[in-house]
Amino acid sequence: MITGMEKFAKAAVNLGFILGLSLAGAVVHAQAPAQVPEWCRPLPRPEYKSLQRVLPDDPWFEVYKVVPGVFAIYEPHQAEEVISYLIVGNKQAMLFDTGMGISDIRKVTTKLTSRPVVVLNSHTHDDHVGGNWQFTFIYGMDADFTRKNGKGSREDAQAEIAPDQLCGDLPKGFNPKTYVTKPWRISHFINDGFKVNLGGRTLEVLSTPGHTPDAICLLDRANGLLFTGDTYYPAPIWLFRPETDLDAYVNSVKRLAALAPELKLVLGAHNIPVAEPSVLPRLVAAIQAVRSGQGAVKPEGESKAIHTHDGFHFLLAASKKEKN
Ligand SMILES: [Zn+2]
Repeated sequence: MITGMEKFAKAAVNLGFILGLSLAGAVVHAQAPAQVPEWCRPLPRPEYKSLQRVLPDDPWFEVYKVVPGVFAIYEPHQAEEVISYLIVGNKQAMLFDTGMGISDIRKVTTKLTSRPVVVLNSHTHDDHVGGNWQFTFIYGMDADFTRKNGKGSREDAQAEIAPDQLCGDLPKGFNPKTYVTKPWRISHFINDGFKVNLGGRTLEVLSTPGHTPDAICLLDRANGLLFTGDTYYPAPIWLFRPETDLDAYVNSVKRLAALAPELKLVLGAHNIPVAEPSVLPRLVAAIQAVRSGQGAVKPEGESKAIHTHDGFHFLLAASKKEKN
């Protein structure tokens, strides 16, 4: 499970790496009120300025039209800064992840499209499946990890709303005491290579295990878009949990890197929704370098370490040597 402290650690390093731990930042830190968590202070992230914001009045979600027919649904008030994507075709739309389940994501998708919405998850960690229960049609990877998480959980959800995880107010009507990841039912199990035709837009599922056994990426080949879930996002990538498989992760990112020449945009599931495709081959080189012992290593708590190479950051389980 993810503890509040681990999340705080992630948030803190996100802040440090994305904006740089400048001296000015340290001064702001010293003067800021104690109740504002560290990760919250660099928000809004400057990268969002160049994106077109829509539905600006929602108190919990920020919605951006990233490219035609693709909306990033961002949750900046919680430390995960998770991003779900609504991808709209002529006949139906796909919601790739459903966020934290803290606010009503279905209300948002209903405002963005009148077409039927099907759900698919980049993987089934709690921060990506929170609104699954609100939808009637859900694709799921044919994996034990997916089935297990489909039963829902309370512990992971509760850790997400610890005071250091929140930036601003929770939505009206939200009850922290009863907050859980609600269970959901898979309507149709899928595997690598599965395609969904949304009408004028086809999405292809790429199985990319590593972060979790059920991690996938979603490829819109005709438009050069690759939705990478937690396999890539522009912040420290979490690769320390028991369900993580580093060998599988390296193979998966190699597969993604091979696609880079035909891509226009890479869209990850946390922090910032847009990255250049050239990031993918560099990601392969960085994780391989880190695994061969290169790069800087900074212990993170007792059981993890942040490995940094070529501007990439990976949060890995600490080796015996680092623990000593
Ligand atoms: Zn995850």
